[in-house]
Amino acid sequence: MPFENRPNRSTEVVLVGRSNVGKSTLMRELTGHKFDTGGKPGVTRQPNHFDWNGPDFMFTDLPGFGFMSGVEEGRREQIKTDVVRYVEENADQILAGVLVVDGKAVIDIIDRHHERGNIPHDVEMFQFLQEIDVDPIVAVNKMDKVDDEDERLDELCDRLGLFPPWQQWQETICPISAKRGNIETLETALGDRFHEVKRDDLLQFVS
Ligand code: GDP
Repeated sequence: MPFENRPNRSTEVVLVGRSNVGKSTLMRELTGHKFDTGGKPGVTRQPNHFDWNGPDFMFTDLPGFGFMSGVEEGRREQIKTDVVRYVEENADQILAGVLVVDGKAVIDIIDRHHERGNIPHDVEMFQFLQEIDVDPIVAVNKMDKVDDEDERLDELCDRLGLFPPWQQWQETICPISAKRGNIETLETALGDRFHEVKRDDLLQFVS
């Protein structure tokens, strides 16, 4: 097991993404709980589980991957490998994989990776989730910093292999601003997902 101490829950929603995209902020908004994530990026390498005594459900914030200043490449790769293995091993329990991206920076980062001949982490993670049938939902965060919202979201769809316009992918592409507490699009998408799999008992976690 890449990570130990996973609580014994049969249903789970995981948050994945590069470091600094706002995953902890989003987790706080979703759960109303403040997490001590341990300060420095790359230092917290364990998943942050948020579970309840009664309901058989948890949110899990997985460690951020990708570039982090002061964290060497080998270690960054290891974090990503651990995240991928965690999702693979628990795929049957995971109702949704939320890929959190920085709406302001994501297109530039993707395009820069492509130019260098690399597969961008975000695109790779999105395809990986699709491949293992953990339906991805992309939480496009920090939209408060984006002026040309529709254009940005269409570009993101294009990079992820989804036909623009983005409005036809509202169950997959969710523009949010976690810091402003504006996460309704994501809560709606998760709620729809719960409903589809007949888990209306979980709607309380996204309303
Ligand atoms: P993590 O590394 O992905 O867990 O990211 P954090 O939650 O620690 O957030 C990284 C930085 O982005 C912090 O300075 C947050 O205040 C900021 N941040 C998070 N969400 C938003 C948002 O919706 N809008 C803006 N402008 N900043 C945000």
